This record gives sequence, C-alpha cells and structure tokens, in this order.
Amino acid sequence: MNIESEFLHPEMETLSRAEIEKLQLKRLQETVKHCMNSPFYKKRFEEIGLKPEDITSLEDIKKIPFTTKQDLRDTYPFGMASVPLRECVRLHSSSGTTGNPTVILHTQKDLDEWANAVARCLWMVGLRPDDVFQNSSGYGMFTGGLGFQYGAERLGMLTVPAAAGNSLRQIKFFTDFGTTAVHAVPSYVTRLYEVMQQQGIDPRKDTKLKVLAIGAEPHSEEQRKRIEDMMGVKAYNSFGMSEMCGPGVAFECKEQNGLHFWEDYYIVEIVDPETLEPVPDGEIGELVLTTLNREAMPLLRYRTRDLTRVLGKTCLCGRNHIRLDRMRGRSDDMMVLRGVNIFPIQIEKILMQYPELGSNYLITLTTDDNNDNMTVEVELAENSNETEQIQKLTKNITRALKDEILLTPFVKLVAKGSLPVSEGKAVRVVDKRKVYL
Ligand code: AMP
Ligand code: ZN
Repeated sequence: MNIESEFLHPEMETLSRAEIEKLQLKRLQETVKHCMNSPFYKKRFEEIGLKPEDITSLEDIKKIPFTTKQDLRDTYPFGMASVPLRECVRLHSSSGTTGNPTVILHTQKDLDEWANAVARCLWMVGLRPDDVFQNSSGYGMFTGGLGFQYGAERLGMLTVPAAAGNSLRQIKFFTDFGTTAVHAVPSYVTRLYEVMQQQGIDPRKDTKLKVLAIGAEPHSEEQRKRIEDMMGVKAYNSFGMSEMCGPGVAFECKEQNGLHFWEDYYIVEIVDPETLEPVPDGEIGELVLTTLNREAMPLLRYRTRDLTRVLGKTCLCGRNHIRLDRMRGRSDDMMVLRGVNIFPIQIEKILMQYPELGSNYLITLTTDDNNDNMTVEVELAENSNETEQIQKLTKNITRALKDEILLTPFVKLVAKGSLPVSEGKAVRVVDKRKVYL
C-alpha cells in the first residue's frame, strides 16, 4: 500500500482498454467453466447446447442467456451455487415484496475480493489509513453495512459501525471520534444535517468531515449538490447491489463525472429492455452485469433493471474502467400516468432547484373520478405563514414540474419535518391507484 499513489490497485486501475478486454475474456471463460458446477447454469447450458469452449471472444457473451431476479427466486435458496455449501461463509438475502426472497452466497475469497473492491473505491476519493470512517447505513442483510465495514477496514481506516438511526448519537460520534468520512443513503444525510442544525452544529467548523459516500438509492445531481453545500464536503456516488456483492461495484472518482464500474470484476452491457439488444454508447438502456471473480455464486448477464447509459471509457483520473451515468431509476420504479412514463428522479431534479424547499418529498398516485392523478408533497426548508408567497411558489413549482413530466401534478408544500423519514432507502412513491382487472 503506497499512500502517495492515486491508485490502490495500480495494476488493475491503470489497465489500457485492450488489457481490460484481454483480462475480461480470460475471466469470462473461467467463470463460464466454473458455472458448470451450478445446477442452474449446467441445466441452462445443456438446454441450449452451450459449452464453455464456445466462448472464444468477448462478443460470444451474447451466446449466454440472461439471468433474472426471477431465476434467483426460482432457485431459492441454494440452487444457483457453484460451490458446495460447506465452502460458503456468508449469505445475504434481499427481501422480495412478492414470492421468495433472493439469496447471495459468498466464499471467504468472495468476501476478500469484495472488501478489496470497496477499499479501492474509497481510496480513489482520497481516503487513507489515517481517516476515520463512520458507516451510518443499515447493517444486517443490507450489504451497505458489512460491505463498507470490511472495505474501510481493508483500507486501514478506523471504522465506526454506527449503523443508521439515532441521529444525535451519530453527530456526537462525528465530533468525538473526529470522523472524516461518512457513508449513508442520501436521504439520511439530509436528515443528519437537519439534526445538526437543530443542535447548532456547523459541519464545516465543528467536524473534520471531508468525504461523503452516498448511494444505494437513486438521487439526482441536484440532490448531490445540495448535500455538498449543506455539509461543505464532496459527496461521491456509490453504486452496488446485493446480487453483485453490494457496494464496490461502481464509484465516482474525484472528477465526479460518472460511475467507474470495475471491469476487472464485471462485464458491463447496456441493452434495450424490450428487445434485449445492445444500445449504442450514450443511449439509455438496462444495465446487465456479469461477475468475473465470484466463486460461490457467479452470475452471467444479470438483468439489473437499472437504467443508465455509457458516458465514456477514459477519464482524466487515469482510469479506463467504463464510466456510466448516475442511475435514473429502475425500470420497476417507472410510473406510468395517463400514458406518460415518469421517473421519481425527474421530479426530484426540479424540486431540488428551489432553495425554499427542503429535501424530503413524497409522490402519491391516486385515481379520482376515473382519472389518474399525481400529488407531490414537499417539505419547506423553513416554515412560513406567508400564504401569498407559498401560493406563488406552489404555482411556479407546478409549472416547472409540468414542463419536465408533461402533466400537471397537485403540488403541496408542507411543514418542515412533517413527511415520514426513513433511515434506510427512502420511499418516494406511494401508488394508491385502483387496479382495474
Ligand atoms: P440492494 O441489492 O437491495 O442493495 O439494491 C440494489 C439497488 O439499489 C440497485 O439495483 C439500484 O436500483 C439501487 N442503487 C444502488 N446504488 C445506487 C445508486 N448509487 N444510485 C441509484 N440507485 C442505486
Ligand atoms: Zn475517473
């Protein structure tokens, strides 16, 4: 570990495109071969007559069928494993709203590699063993807990498993332990800031904070800027998902110009969610990921449902690992209202442009008189009795939202602190529409 270096793993982080692709092909071939140990993949390959030797170029990945969340549910709990269960040391599970949850298994090597990937991300944004890392995210099955814990420890930082919640205690830890870096979901960072304000604590003067890692839920560039302005530090976007381990899949570098996906660990494809054909670079599509170094449960061409696009394959930071745009949401988050497709993030983007508004908002969809309607409730930054001003502001916001989403929502400005706050991923949409069968 050379603390002067910009790179934690220079041998991987500074590979050229050609070297990345060569490594990916080798690892893809090994992964496909290893997948023959998984009852699920063995059967699937036999069904279509695919043999590991058929993969002779990266293009050949197209011969491999997609894997879906439904496949994970159907093989619950252990039908995907590519090693015997006695070789596994950890299991994470994400709860499904319907049907079986999904299970992700890890060997010790998987956990080591996962910690390395997270450490690499944190190093990239300037964290070093002298830093104090407070992980204010949920623990337990949620991978943002243990994932960041092991990654920050691997880097050598003093790591505080604060978990989410108990904001007063979180803030006491910031000041008492000299916390320099925090990981939390974006909605919880704004909550922490509100509590700091109530306590008369100024993060710029009264803490040593220098880096925030925010992720696990979609958030707009405007929300990030707001968080940076509040806390007076850089906030880096962190992307991950349980199926791919958790955090450490992709992270912004100091350029803050897209998420670097680590291509020594994953093959990235962006496909049209309808036709499943690749979309040209720069166009939005569904992110599909193939793991390249997993032992317990490799996943081939996993359809993430997350929508994004390629921004570039080079970067001023010196890394050639692909850069993708911040996620605009999951295809399942898309609201269809009177035939118009809308993502919650589009609404957030507009709301965050108004300094009079706080960061907490809730979108409710209802059916009234056979019409689908959207109500956007958003907290005021400061409570106010100026009815006329509030009316004017409401009108302006309604107009700006209409320009963005092409239909007119009901906008309600509500008192600061009156909407529900979540310490985990924020619930932004409540759909109360009638379902006509
Ligand atoms: P989970 O496996 O429960 O942790 O959820 C993973 C999902 O969270 C991803 O598929 C994304 O939809 C979402 N997610 C994680 N990180 C981000 C991020 N930085 N930006 C937007 N969405 C994210
Ligand atoms: Zn970069």
